[in-house]
Amino acid sequence: EAKTNLFFVTADEMRGRFPERPKFSHKGTFGHALLLAGSQGKIGAAVLATQACLRGGVGLLTTRVPAVGYDILQISAPEAMCLADPAADFLTELPDLAPYAAVGIGPGLGQQDGTREVLRQLLTTAEVPLVIDADALNLLGANPELQSLLPPGSLLTPHPKEFERLVGEPARDDYHRLEQLRSFANHTGCYCVLKGAYTALATPAGHIFFNSTGNPGMATGGSGDVLTGLLLALHADQRLSPLDAALLGLHAHGRAADLALPHTGHAGLLASDIIRFIGPALSELE
Ligand code: AMP
Ligand code: MG
Repeated sequence: EAKTNLFFVTADEMRGRFPERPKFSHKGTFGHALLLAGSQGKIGAAVLATQACLRGGVGLLTTRVPAVGYDILQISAPEAMCLADPAADFLTELPDLAPYAAVGIGPGLGQQDGTREVLRQLLTTAEVPLVIDADALNLLGANPELQSLLPPGSLLTPHPKEFERLVGEPARDDYHRLEQLRSFANHTGCYCVLKGAYTALATPAGHIFFNSTGNPGMATGGSGDVLTGLLLALHADQRLSPLDAALLGLHAHGRAADLALPHTGHAGLLASDIIRFIGPALSELE
């Protein structure tokens, strides 16, 4: 049984952890990411994750949406490439993974049977880091046999409800929930986040890191989708370890929301405001 070690991650500790861009860098240096997201009525989640991934410094991004999302995505994120699924309303086919340095899945995905099979195929064929969120987590919760397919080193980003579905058992109290988190990361070999104020990140080795940034304005639809896109960008960056990518992403996501706050107030903060301040938040960490 791994020993639990708890860490509170301060801004001082994160400073200097995001490598500066070399003068002679090109888009290949920062990786080509693939995002699988969106379903009928939830293409916005795919758009938010796409925009956040672009602001996170990804070299290239291809977003896979169902056909209904093609025009929406091309218009709202012209910097991303869009690979439409043959099905109109939800994802049914996994594209060839060969070009990609990291894959993100989940925002707005829905839980259709066809999409569950896309997730299964991703879990069994991917050889690069995976960032797994939202309905992809709900599919893992509803189909526990998929959990044994999780590639070690993947990053899962549940909020408390998604985490409860994932482990299939409510927590008795906050302490028990952290023990469930530590144990889940340990037996899957994955990094697992528990989102909220002071988001926790558990590592396969049994460490838990608490994030120090963020504010209650983030309790609004889409802020988790922004986190997924940002984390995907950092996982595609070949210079960062999975742990550093996760810690940097959590820190910069909350910090971006803190930087947006004077402009919006808590009530007025939108997920898209967080996206606007990802760049400034990351540059503080260089
Ligand atoms: P989701 O529930 O998937 O949209 O994710 C919500 C995001 O907002 C997560 O990154 C949370 O950590 C963050 N968040 C939500 N509520 C708070 C809060 N009260 N304080 C700080 N961060 C929060
Ligand atoms: Mg979410």
